Amino acid sequence: MGNPQTLDVLSRVFGYDSFRGDQQEVVDHVVDGGDALVLMPTGAGKSLCYQIPALVRDGVGVVISPLIALMQDQVDGLRAAGVRAGYLNSTQDPDERRMVEAEFLAGRLDLLYLAPERLRSEATMRLVERGPVSVFAIDEAHCVSQWGHDFRPDYLELSTLHERRPDVPRIALTATATPATREEITARLKLTDARVFVSSFDRPNIQYRIVPKRDPRKQLLDFLRTEHAGDAGIVYCLSRRSVEETAEFLSRNGIEALPYHAGLDAGTRARHQARFLREDGLVVVATIAFGMGIDKPDVRFVAHLDLPKSVEGYYQETGRAGRDGLPSTAWLAYGLADVVAQRRLIDTSEGDAAHRRRLSSHLDAMLALCETVDCRRARLLAYFGQQLDGERCGNCDTCLSPPETWDGTVAAQKLLSTVVRLKRERGQKFGAGQIVDILRGKRTPKVTQHRHDQLSVFGVGTDLGEGEWRAVVRQLLAQGLLAVEGDYGTLVTTDASDEVLFRGRTVPLRRDPARTAVRSSRTTSARAETVELDDEASAVFERLRAWRAAAAKEQGVPAYVLFHDATLRQIATLRPSTRAELGTVNGVGETKLSRYGDEVLGVLTS
Ligand code: ADP
Ligand code: ZN
Repeated sequence: MGNPQTLDVLSRVFGYDSFRGDQQEVVDHVVDGGDALVLMPTGAGKSLCYQIPALVRDGVGVVISPLIALMQDQVDGLRAAGVRAGYLNSTQDPDERRMVEAEFLAGRLDLLYLAPERLRSEATMRLVERGPVSVFAIDEAHCVSQWGHDFRPDYLELSTLHERRPDVPRIALTATATPATREEITARLKLTDARVFVSSFDRPNIQYRIVPKRDPRKQLLDFLRTEHAGDAGIVYCLSRRSVEETAEFLSRNGIEALPYHAGLDAGTRARHQARFLREDGLVVVATIAFGMGIDKPDVRFVAHLDLPKSVEGYYQETGRAGRDGLPSTAWLAYGLADVVAQRRLIDTSEGDAAHRRRLSSHLDAMLALCETVDCRRARLLAYFGQQLDGERCGNCDTCLSPPETWDGTVAAQKLLSTVVRLKRERGQKFGAGQIVDILRGKRTPKVTQHRHDQLSVFGVGTDLGEGEWRAVVRQLLAQGLLAVEGDYGTLVTTDASDEVLFRGRTVPLRRDPARTAVRSSRTTSARAETVELDDEASAVFERLRAWRAAAAKEQGVPAYVLFHDATLRQIATLRPSTRAELGTVNGVGETKLSRYGDEVLGVLTS
């Protein structure tokens, strides 16, 4: 059962007593010199899959990673565990680089992190050709795929690397893996002979919630105050401006939030990212440019104020929450305006028709996830070709408070025929606002100006409120029974609309939950393995955190490089009195024990 050496490294270096999921099999396979393609969700423990083979096999493990800004932290983290690690990227000066290269050639490293852009230089290629390489690890391997959402041209050089060193086993890893992406990775990296390891993509500790958008910033503030006060998290917005405004709004309301987007200068971005990683409980408000590969384990929530463009993107972004396995929330506010905006973006996007169709099918899948009355997790997994055990997960909003459905056929007919009449009788097109005002019989200036109060459909929809009508429009758009057009988001019918108007197609709709939806408390989101700390343990945990913050600051590394929250929680519960006892805690390896053992025991007795 496995190679004893790998277990030894796992416990001695990393302080863990058993492998998780597929880790053992992957590690054994690569230690034996096999190629592997590893598909594992974020937080499942991909890093150990290549780090341990690198430590066990002779030579240096070379890791290709696009995350230049994080290499320093990754290397610091490994060094704290006693691993000899280094990196080569564009942030170094030539002298530093030469030193690392010499150590690599002499085999005095266990792991070398390499930025993909270095592969373009012949000097780097020659270096890799001459050096003692034990394994190539290709992290974030989906970056080689153009179908996915993070394509990096430099990744295409990876096949050259393989041609130069066909003797070295390769392990490619990613947390993004629709069947299409997977095929592309295999083809482009020529990994046809690799063994493929596919883990479940379920992230049981993440609670998925998608709420109707009303007053998004206020909803966000409520959510943070009631459920995530003092927690670290990421808020995603689509535009730079909305990033800036949201960060300011949160800060004004007592929640420390930093903006992050491509319009900020590199220094500011780096500073904000570093603070997020190093300090406890900060919120970053960002465009999607933020977060890939950030392995901060204690991100407690990911909130979206705008609709993500694809389920893959949504899964990636929300996956940044809860790497440590503790309960976390993925929260998305979504409304009619999002659908209109996204459709417009696609219509005006560059690229050919095939490209637009691809964007469109990505969006349709995302909308279906938003509008489903079934379990969100089951839907998400289905998207990745996987199945949930059982029908419902019990830890998403639709499971916790199942939405009602209603027969929206008549409402849909009223709405669609209003759109049709405007077009046919007046040759006009209008946006959702005007259509809803007509249906509700509101004599606004714009309605009287256009004499829309004289239409036969004027006021036929007083049975529904404005919010309800907007929900109808949104869902008809999501179902393709209605479409938007042009710069003003005007509504037009589709071929499928006729089925509703003339051919008896029924339209089941989801009723938006009332404003005061039942909010599950954090303790019910407990498919995650977590123990509630009693008062005394909580106090100890806080003291340990304070010690960790001070020690990390002194060393200039993120707090989690010393110990993760999960490790501190376990220490606070066990309250070990000897080094040997402390050594049994998950996440306390030999190097950390000898470096911090006395200090931690000191905190416990103080
Ligand atoms: P990924 O790269 O897949 O997102 P990481 O490699 O960052 O995940 O691992 C996620 C977390 O799980 C890390 O804190 C890591 O130390 C921890 N971890 C990984 N493997 C194990 C294990 N076998 N036992 C305990 N903790 C583990
Ligand atoms: Zn569910």
